Amino acid sequence: MPDTIAAVATGGALSAIGIVRISGGGAISAADRVFSAASGVRLEEAESRRMYYGRLSGADGRLIDLCLCTVSRGPDSYTGEDTAEFHCHGSPVVLSECLRALFAHGVRHAEAGEFTKRAFLNGRMDLTQAEAVIDLIESETASAAQNAAGQLNGALGNRLAPVYDDLLDIIAHFHAVIDYPDEDIDEFKMQHYLSTLRSSEKELMRMLDTHVRGRVLREGVATAIIGRPNTGKSSLLNALLGYDRAIVTTVAGTTRDTIEEKALVGGVLLRLTDTAGLRKTDDAIEKLGVDRSLAALGGAGLVILVLDGSEHMQSEDYDALRLIPTGVPKIAAINKSDLRQVLGAGELEGLDFDFCRVSALTGEGLDAFGKKIKEILPEPESTQAGGLITNSRQAEALSRACESVGTAISAIAASVTPDAVLTEVEAALAAIGELTGKTMREDITQRIFERFCVGK
Ligand code: GDP
Repeated sequence: MPDTIAAVATGGALSAIGIVRISGGGAISAADRVFSAASGVRLEEAESRRMYYGRLSGADGRLIDLCLCTVSRGPDSYTGEDTAEFHCHGSPVVLSECLRALFAHGVRHAEAGEFTKRAFLNGRMDLTQAEAVIDLIESETASAAQNAAGQLNGALGNRLAPVYDDLLDIIAHFHAVIDYPDEDIDEFKMQHYLSTLRSSEKELMRMLDTHVRGRVLREGVATAIIGRPNTGKSSLLNALLGYDRAIVTTVAGTTRDTIEEKALVGGVLLRLTDTAGLRKTDDAIEKLGVDRSLAALGGAGLVILVLDGSEHMQSEDYDALRLIPTGVPKIAAINKSDLRQVLGAGELEGLDFDFCRVSALTGEGLDAFGKKIKEILPEPESTQAGGLITNSRQAEALSRACESVGTAISAIAASVTPDAVLTEVEAALAAIGELTGKTMREDITQRIFERFCVGK
């Protein structure tokens, strides 16, 4: 039996309520030893999922807090084990005293993610759901939270289940034919398998295709801030972040490297890269920065061109303009609107994209700038909640599954031996199994005997 673990579930900050969570075979008895319910009920006899008010005491009997306690008995609990929770006053001292009291009764401190790991190991959720728990906690926008909640609800596992089943059917059949040649089993239905494999490949690819949007949802839109030196790129980055991240000086070429930070602008999560300025330079270090800036531009999902409204357009502004890759959403921030504006509308006619006058110094115009950004970025296609692959581990496993199914299709087309096809389909199934955390061998064996009644 796994040992009993405990941890603070609500972080280390001061808060009204703080929760200590305990899980394992000894959870309820350990909780009983530090808690006495006002009603006199022992937790061992307490109703599951009911709140009991009472006294929480330390190992020496000293009162730690007056709090609420609830128990959930396994397997109907988050981890699938017996669990208890203390809802204390949210002082880090109270919570650590509560833990200390529990540790005196054989409980140990939980490792990172251990409650969810136990939930997975006890079959309470698959791996995609376990990963969704952390995605949900870490989500930075409402849409990212919505996607994670959908995955927590099993969206990915549900979508993969029919593909997994189809592949399993093929494997079971192939195994039966290869392992038990004397059994009276239908001839290979190659065409049928081929079409099943093709539709599996299509579905896996469709899922894999969502990874680009999924990454944006989770990590934000890669945004390059470009412009000639001293237009206020670093100042704009700082203004959008709400704190000073980049060095701002009046010396051109101060930002020697790229800086990447996340900010919510107009409700959109942006991964802002302040580029090093894109001027020609002989300085080796600055040149490195320029190269990185160009790379950032190449991978950008949004480009912000910063111009200085207090000056006329200069050749270096046009140089920066020309660097913007075609087809990438772009916006110009005409900065320094707090100064007398020299850059006139006539000069901006050549710009075939939106612009907004802002002041990185005073913050003027930044709200309107955010709204424009929201407008110009493509609306994420509405997908079923949880339909976007946000996680690179999942994308990598999906891509391997896709590749193996593709190889199996080619193998059938080239009429290679069934065992070569089988190896590829098994590899695809293993990759999907890795994604969901499902084991494979047991399933295959079970299917063979269930469906084909081999060796009866
Ligand atoms: P970068 O080289 O494009 O990153 O430009 P910086 O952000 O380093 O700014 C260059 C200079 O312009 C600094 O002296 C800033 O204080 C100044 N500056 C930046 N934004 C504004 C603004 O909105 N208004 C005014 N008046 N000055 C600004």
